[in-house]
Parts: sequence; C-alpha cells; structure tokens
Amino acid sequence: MEPVDLLIAGAGPTACVIAERAAAVLGWRSLIVEKRHHIGGNCFDEVHDSGLLLHRYGPHYFRTSSQALVTYLSRFTDWIDGHYLVRSLVRDRLYPFPINLNTLEAYFGRPFTATQARDHLESIREPFAEPENSEQLVMSLVGRALYEDFYLEYTKKQWGRHPRDLDASVCGRIPVRYNRDDRYTDAPFQKLPAAGYTAMFANMIDHPLISVRLGTDYSEIRRQVEPRQATVYTGPLDEYFDRSLGPLEWRSLDFEVREFDKEWVQPCVQVNYPDARDYTRTVELKHTTGQRNPRSVVIYEYPRADGEPYYPVPAASNRERYARYRDLADVETRHKRVYFCGRLAEYRYINSDTAMLNALDTFERIRRDRHVD
Ligand SMILES: Cc1cc2nc3c(=O)[nH]c(=O)nc-3n(C[C@H](O)[C@H](O)[C@H](O)COP(=O)(O)OP(=O)(O)OC[C@H]3O[C@@H](n4cnc5c(N)ncnc54)[C@H](O)[C@@H]3O)c2cc1C
Repeated sequence: MEPVDLLIAGAGPTACVIAERAAAVLGWRSLIVEKRHHIGGNCFDEVHDSGLLLHRYGPHYFRTSSQALVTYLSRFTDWIDGHYLVRSLVRDRLYPFPINLNTLEAYFGRPFTATQARDHLESIREPFAEPENSEQLVMSLVGRALYEDFYLEYTKKQWGRHPRDLDASVCGRIPVRYNRDDRYTDAPFQKLPAAGYTAMFANMIDHPLISVRLGTDYSEIRRQVEPRQATVYTGPLDEYFDRSLGPLEWRSLDFEVREFDKEWVQPCVQVNYPDARDYTRTVELKHTTGQRNPRSVVIYEYPRADGEPYYPVPAASNRERYARYRDLADVETRHKRVYFCGRLAEYRYINSDTAMLNALDTFERIRRDRHVD
C-alpha cells in the first residue's frame, strides 16, 4: 500500500472536506475508509426506481449563514432553491410550522398583528423565567395549548422521552415567529446541491491524491496503515475506545419508502404528525428538488431507540460520559495525532453546514500541527 499522509475514518461531509483541503492546499495523500458502500455520510442521496432523487438518511435541507462556506462548496456544485416548507397536522388540519403569525391566526381563528400576537401569547404563556427543560421552555413561549398540540406528542415520539425530561435546548432550536415567514429555517442561504449531495462530495474528493475504500471499517485497518501526518476519525467516539467507559446513547430512525401513482401526495416537502401515530413526519422530497414526475415517493420516519446513530440523546448522563471520552480523545490527539471531528465523534447534533465549517477548522489545526521535514 502506498504511504499516506492522512488516514480518514468515514466518508461523510467532514471527511470529504478535510481530504479535499489536504490535497489542494498541502499536496497530501489521503486514504478514506468508509464502512458503508457509499460516500456522503448521512447526506447520501440516490436515484429511486421512479427516477426521483431521494435522501436515504432523512431529508437534508441545506442552509447556512456562512457565505464563505457557500463560496467554497460552489466549486463543486451548482445550486437550486430549497423551498423548505413544513406543515403540522393537528386535528385533521394542516398548520404552518414553525409557529408564525399564519399558524396563530389559523389556530385561534382570528387575525393578528405582530403586537397583538405577542400580547396574546403573553396572556396565555406559562411564566417560567428560567426554563429547566423542553416542556417549560415551550410553555413559557406559547402556552399549554400550543405546546400540547404541536410539541408534546412529536417530542415524545422523536426522543422516547417526555419533554420535561429533555434539555430546554432540544425544543429551543425551533423558532416562534411574529411574522409571516413560513420557511422551516431562518438561514439566509437555503439551497440544495443541483445534482445532489453525493455528486457534490464525489466532485470534492475527485483528486489523484485521494483514495477511498468503501465497505471497510476503520477497526480493520487501523493497525495496518501508519499515516505520515495524522488520522482523522469521524466515527462514533465510544466505538474508537471500544466503549470502555460504556456506550453513548443515540436515537435512531427507520425510513419507510412508499411510492404513489399520483403526481403529488402532500402540499409541501414535510408534514409533521404531533399525535399518537407511530411516525413523526412524512417527506415528499420532490417539492424541494423541483423534479417533475407523474409518480411520487413519500418517506415515513419512525423513531427508534436502537439502530444507526442519528441523534445524540441530550441528557446529563450522556454529557458526563462524553466528557470522559473527550479526555481520552485529547490524549490521543496529543500523543498519536488522531483528530476527532464530525457529528459522531463530537457526539453533537450538527447540521451539515456546521459539520463542514468545523472540518475546515480541524484542517487548519492539523496543518498547524504538521511535521515539516
Ligand atoms: C435524520 C437526519 C436529518 C438531517 N437533516 C439535516 C438537514 O436537514 N440539514 C443539514 O444540513 N443536516 C442535516 N442532518 C445532519 C447531517 O447529516 C450531518 O451534519 C452530516 O452528515 C455530518 O457529517 P459527518 O461527516 O460529520 O458525519 P456523517 O455524515 O455521519 O458521516 C460519518 C461517516 O463515517 C462512517 N463511519 C462511522 N464509523 C466508521 C468506522 N468505524 N469506519 C469507517 N467508517 C465509519 C459512517 O458510515 C458515515 O458514512 C441530518 C441528520 C440526520 C440523522
């Protein structure tokens, strides 16, 4: 095997960015090993039998506030508009979500100006000055009725825990808006890679200095390859240390793909179900990709406790265990130049833009620490 400068575990967004920068900026040779049979990590997309592009691991709505990241990624892709619109189904009626003036008017059956809506929520919200959990946080923003109708059951299904047993930050990520902005997120840039994520990442690592071995777990190769400069590990942190301090807990999902013999199934890309049915959301991706097709595909998401690690469970016990693994990881970085980066290794839910921005920072760190002959 040819000597490499970087050995990279995982071929997700984090890995692709670091390999690309190492090749382009430093002329380093990288070997990426990926246990799945494709690149792109959880951003992986593929063409379904119907001809529609699907995101295999849940819908990925690319959005960012970083113009620098957009400029960087635009070397590898063109963009199409995102149209990320979400509705929540409450008692057989679809409401815009996150909650905004349109939601409030439909829900309370009366018109609101922004000031009137604020005053109304002020009169019904529960006065928790310093909310200690997600239930208190949402009730302090919108009151009990909206909390119970829009958040409670969805959160219980998604996390397998009551919102009062989850950090305030879990539901705190969802904005409440006093305007008529129906978009799912606030970020100024909301577009998708025109030919898909997988094509964008394939372009990124299409370089003579980058090789990829699919279907290969890092554990199979870690003792065989001695990189000249560093290792970048983007897999689960506890796995790297053989779970010696116990497992870190993740939530997972099952995706059920249903094909329909009609052009459109739902009015927007995502419908949320904050109720007793087993699935949390349905996604008809065609609304965002702009593909025309007489048939359609909708993906149903069923949360579960075991399976692929998707969402770190935000509870104190996990944070404490992660901190202890992090201490081990810091020693590994200092002594063996193994850098732990990405959503699995950092045990954080991060969107892909944050993952790639962090990867750019990690690249700079590796560059500063490098051996110079
Ligand atoms: C359901 C869901 C929805 C999401 N929606 C969005 C969204 O709308 N917008 C957005 O921007 N982001 C979204 N994300 C987040 C996005 O997927 C991540 O931010 C991004 O994929 C992180 O990139 P990464 O490279 O750090 O990790 P990953 O994409 O997870 O890639 C890590 C790779 O490492 C591989 N690997 C792990 N262990 C090993 C090992 N031992 N050996 C070899 N390979 C290994 C894995 O197979 C994987 O391919 C979503 C994530 C999920 C789970």
